[in-house]
Amino acid sequence: AARALAGLGAHVTVVDGGDGEKQQAAARELEHWAAAQSASGKGGGGRRVGGITVRLGDGASLPEGTDLVVTSPGWKPDSPLFAAAAAAGVDVVGDVEIAWRLRGPDAAAWLGVTGTNGKTTTVRMLASILAAEGLHTTAVGNIGTPIIDVVLGQGKDGERPYDVLAVELSSYQLHWAPSLRAHSAVVLNLAPDHLDWHGSMQAYAADKGRIYEGNTVACVYNVADKATEDLVREADVEEGCRAIGFTLGTPGPSQLGVVEGILVDRAFVENRQQQAQELAEISDIAPGSGTPAPHNIANALAAAALARAFGVRPAAVRDGLRAFHPDAHRIQHIAELDGVTYIDDSKATNTHAAEASLAAYEHIVWIAGGLAKGATFDELVQKSAARLRGVVLIGADRALIREALARHAPDVPVVDLDRTDTGAMPEAVREAARLAEPGDTVLLAPACASMDMFVNYNKRGEAFADAVGELTARDH
Ligand code: ADP
Repeated sequence: AARALAGLGAHVTVVDGGDGEKQQAAARELEHWAAAQSASGKGGGGRRVGGITVRLGDGASLPEGTDLVVTSPGWKPDSPLFAAAAAAGVDVVGDVEIAWRLRGPDAAAWLGVTGTNGKTTTVRMLASILAAEGLHTTAVGNIGTPIIDVVLGQGKDGERPYDVLAVELSSYQLHWAPSLRAHSAVVLNLAPDHLDWHGSMQAYAADKGRIYEGNTVACVYNVADKATEDLVREADVEEGCRAIGFTLGTPGPSQLGVVEGILVDRAFVENRQQQAQELAEISDIAPGSGTPAPHNIANALAAAALARAFGVRPAAVRDGLRAFHPDAHRIQHIAELDGVTYIDDSKATNTHAAEASLAAYEHIVWIAGGLAKGATFDELVQKSAARLRGVVLIGADRALIREALARHAPDVPVVDLDRTDTGAMPEAVREAARLAEPGDTVLLAPACASMDMFVNYNKRGEAFADAVGELTARDH
């Protein structure tokens, strides 16, 4: 954001409350960039480049002369600097708001996706479907190239401008994007997450609900998650904007759903005689990645609903879902060994996500644990207990899961590794392999964040895959 705004001629002060080695290195890099830009006289659209100044070690006071504060998710909404901005009558916004304000008059429509889980998968499915229709598009937002760069780069250097953007929006981004108005948008699901940032479930839901504000064509909601429908009802939308539901069951009018293994659309049927429009078979969803988990069928329906709202033909929904490849560490099949399947769902960083992946298998040896972020595990364990062959626990907050297991699944064998070091994964996988029987699934779905043991969830997933690889090498 700092580079983009300086490129447009703004004088940017980058503020960080810390002043450690990491911040100092970032500061040097930014200042170096700004100096090089101004020496070369380059700037967006021939404009003069503004400057970048970095201020470290003071995260509370508003730099003098500030006209606008652009924040990032690391800053909690109750940060003193924002109070100082409010007192001075200065707006506080996020990168998405900047992108929205900077988009040109003929800008591409935005199709928005939020929800506690499934955002990345759904925007990727959506982008794949839109591309299958021949539209020029990209998945952007909380994913890929920064959205400001995409908007400012529109049609530059003779490139074809985007027709439509598939925009992943986190609750943080929505919180700070007050004027965003999507063509259509979906809240996939709502479960407690990031409550330490938002302060309450109500505040978190309200931020998610912002995605529906001012929608022009469709607000898509999850029939199985009433809270998402409530958000649609509360939203102030453009006249003619429709509420469209998606369900894993038989769809009602104005819904997309599933009938005998076929994804069908009863919301955007082409002629009135028609009861439902067939879109694709379940097996069309990422063929080659195994039977899709129920939550990925739901994600496909949500993506299809947004695409159909944008006028995409049924055949393109099918082709787009066929061309879609899931990202790594999301229900990723790693190996099958002695009849046991090894699945990496390291991206299941909260209980709601873990619940979805545990629901996708019958007999599971579950590898869980990490940073709980204030979550409780009783409901998750209660719902999944009957499927658990055994559990292997790792990470800082594993006692919370162990206690929930003792309460609700006392007969399930639990191996508590009592380890929080990166090297624990091979031992965890060996223990899981020992507990598993042919036909079982060893599932890494930690229900926790990874940062107590790993740099991020990617590294955790890689450690799992490596450990499974070692198992293969040793046993065969
Ligand atoms: P996000 O971008 O919202 O974090 P992802 O698409 O990366 O979502 O998926 C994250 C994890 O959430 C997956 O690994 C899976 O465990 C779970 N998940 C995905 N889609 C859903 C869904 N619709 N409902 C519940 N859990 C889901």
